[in-house]
Amino acid sequence: MQLTNTLTMKKEDIIPHQPGIIKMYTCGPTVYGYAHIGNLRSYLMEDVLEKALRYEGFQVQRAMNITDVGHLTSDADTGEDKMLKGAKREHKSVLELADFYTQAFFQDCQKLNIRRPDIVVPATGCISDFIEMVSALLDKGFAYLSGGNVYFDTSKLENYYVFGNQNAEDLAVGVREGVESDTNKRSKTDFVLWFTKSKFEDQELKWDSPWGLGYPGWHIECSAISVKNLGEYLDIHCGGIDNAFPHHTNEIAQSEAYLGHPWCKYWFHILHLNDVGGKISKSKGAKLTVSLLEEKGYDPLCYRLFCLQSHYRKPLVFSFESLDNAAHAYGKLTARISALAKEGEPDTSAAKPWQEKYLAALCNDVNTSQALTVLYDMLKSDLDDATKRFLVADFDQVLSLDLLDAAERLGAAQSPAVPEELAREIEALIEKRAQARKAKDWAAADAIRDELAARRVVLKDTPNGVEWHIEG
Ligand code: AMP
Ligand code: ZN
Repeated sequence: MQLTNTLTMKKEDIIPHQPGIIKMYTCGPTVYGYAHIGNLRSYLMEDVLEKALRYEGFQVQRAMNITDVGHLTSDADTGEDKMLKGAKREHKSVLELADFYTQAFFQDCQKLNIRRPDIVVPATGCISDFIEMVSALLDKGFAYLSGGNVYFDTSKLENYYVFGNQNAEDLAVGVREGVESDTNKRSKTDFVLWFTKSKFEDQELKWDSPWGLGYPGWHIECSAISVKNLGEYLDIHCGGIDNAFPHHTNEIAQSEAYLGHPWCKYWFHILHLNDVGGKISKSKGAKLTVSLLEEKGYDPLCYRLFCLQSHYRKPLVFSFESLDNAAHAYGKLTARISALAKEGEPDTSAAKPWQEKYLAALCNDVNTSQALTVLYDMLKSDLDDATKRFLVADFDQVLSLDLLDAAERLGAAQSPAVPEELAREIEALIEKRAQARKAKDWAAADAIRDELAARRVVLKDTPNGVEWHIEG
């Protein structure tokens, strides 16, 4: 597997610390609202990475936190806790809010076939681990007390700005306009490890600590949860690109100061999903959720296909028009698979070169669009149907598009069974009609519809593309 490592901005071979085993950490959701489809792009591409590594033959140990405390509305350590703000908005306790949106998050993941990581840990369940790490950082001289809070002292590090692509503008997010800076800090890049004083005195969840009643900073939770569950050497750390700074920079600073050696070798960042108005963000109250897609009649897996069609290292612009295209492609793909004969044994030696091509696409920096091309080429090839079906199931271990099940459902809807050749002819006519409609050639489109009607083919336009069956 080769990945673009944000530390070097180069494609690198993944060589795990322990041969054959990949330790992978994912920044989990902040559970103060529904995940939007931008957040889910990140989790979806991380899911593909995990499955691609397994497909290649690695064992993967993966952990994820649930941020239910400490993530403030500003990166400058002066804002209100996002969870507290959410709880006030919804007249719930913080833990009720966390429970509700954690469940909602995993329901959305399930609809998108995103596998739940083996280890999922809420931050509020690990307070003693955070306290232990903060104490050690104080003992080692990497932290100081000021104004009642414990801060990480970035001046003690040889190298703080480790991500190769950072520039002064990126770093400025820590002191964004309208965000007052924290006067307790010795340096503007220092950050809070433990709060006992904040101007939001009504912070609901607080714990005893050697420094007084308080709560952890956001960054410390990922370091402590990762080290505790995956050990001192982490292979791959994942997250959306907005987390690269300050969150991941601070994670590296405190983990390496604590451990006394390099910590994580590869940083896998997913670029943002944007809409025409710019970045989709949860704090702006984004409404683009999986439920909204379902309300509009889309199968959530069409969104999965939409994400797989482009590379995770490129920003992706969402529009319903492009989702329609993905839905159409999904419909065509499953129709093609449903036309494959079910009888016969696969020829596994003929399948092998296709599996190798597919794996090569995935290992090329998780090039999912290339992997989809291998799938399309394979379906067009002269392999027999049984081998094609075998490969569809094999590839779908990573794509997770439920291809055989969707094809089965389509097949059932189209009973009685239509001979493959006729099905292809009908698909071609439907495609021609779609082209005519796109070109606004209504006469041609109607003529094709009449031709299909004469053959007793009934068409139904759905957001997932055109479905059809032959009348009784
Ligand atoms: P949060 O719940 O805000 O902590 O974010 C959860 C994950 O979603 C993090 O990995 C973020 O970096 C990522 N994320 C946030 N906004 C977007 C977006 N528009 N596109 C892709 N990923 C995002
Ligand atoms: Zn994190």
